[in-house]
Amino acid sequence: MPSSPNSRRRSPVSTVSFEPAALTVPHAAHRLFDGREIVFFAREEADLPSAVVDPRAPEERAGHGELRQDPLTGDWIAMATHRQNRTHLPPADQCPLCPSAPGRESEIPADFQVVAFENRFPSLGPDLVDLPDPDQPPEIGRSYPAGGRCEVLVYTPEHQGSLAQLEPEEVQLVLRALAQRTAALSALPGIRQVFPFENRGEQIGTTLHHPHGQIYAYPYVTPTTLKTARRAVEHLDRTGRTLHHDLLDQELSDGARVVVAGDHVTAYVPWAARWPLEVHVVPHRHVADLAALSGDELDELAVIQRDVLARLDALYSTPTPYISAWHQAPLVPGLRDAARLHLQIVSPRRAENKLKYLAGSEAAMGAFIGDVSPEETAQRLRDAL
Ligand SMILES: [Zn+2]
Ligand SMILES: [Zn+2]
Repeated sequence: MPSSPNSRRRSPVSTVSFEPAALTVPHAAHRLFDGREIVFFAREEADLPSAVVDPRAPEERAGHGELRQDPLTGDWIAMATHRQNRTHLPPADQCPLCPSAPGRESEIPADFQVVAFENRFPSLGPDLVDLPDPDQPPEIGRSYPAGGRCEVLVYTPEHQGSLAQLEPEEVQLVLRALAQRTAALSALPGIRQVFPFENRGEQIGTTLHHPHGQIYAYPYVTPTTLKTARRAVEHLDRTGRTLHHDLLDQELSDGARVVVAGDHVTAYVPWAARWPLEVHVVPHRHVADLAALSGDELDELAVIQRDVLARLDALYSTPTPYISAWHQAPLVPGLRDAARLHLQIVSPRRAENKLKYLAGSEAAMGAFIGDVSPEETAQRLRDAL
């Protein structure tokens, strides 16, 4: 264990107690061969597997990596060096996310509609950790276990395709599953932020083609969320209104950057977009995370997410690589109330065969230089379908 022996007994930063979600979805939890949790989701209770037997021989789980705090920025950096020793990787021609079949053992030993399971080689976890306040003075030489939880969420048993190609009901089930995982992971000790996301496309490093996303449950608030949550708190204190309320008002009355406007949710290209393609999908009601949505809100959010992704794919002759990132309110008192759930979809694609790479200004300084106007991007996306 890389941390000092008393790291788990330091005074904990209290975590917000999490209210039970209003949304419910039929689900059943089981265990994989090495003890990892796997949760099946279905539209109907009757479609859940009752018994799940993983035929693989029982095995101990790998140890954890370490967390170090960058003394210059205060950011936590996870070192997943233990993953270098991965063993027993499935052959490259066998998809670990297709349902298991005789003679082909995947990660999912039963038929499913949507399924979430703990990552076999997680960057965070399997143990949990209670980290100290990040504003403490830096301590070089002190590290902590990289606690937390990393899960994989498989959208469909079908190997080919993408989220945008699923039926609307299928995307709605995916979001209900993400809402359930958000509620469950938020309740784990020491978790400060739950981040569901998807990397799509070989150009941005996806190695598995089967349509899937991931969920990271961090024991700290990520740098981006810390920065945006603090600005949201400042805006609320100063104006009495939430920042997202005011932004939505402006986007809807201007209209130049709106891509799709629904009854409960609006998708727009942000005023100061960082990426060649960037869309934010924001609920009209102030909700902290997916678990706080009503059924109607979630259903429309799924339809609009699918629509925006289909528009990205319609821009060029080949599918557009993207990162789809769910920003959810951190589980920390004082930061949670002002922050609002929103989906950020970004792509580095600048043209049919051109990607934006993060070079000196962006990578070292976090100072983005854009080469397309957000208004032009919004127009192209509106015209794409
Ligand atoms: Zn449950
Ligand atoms: Zn597959």
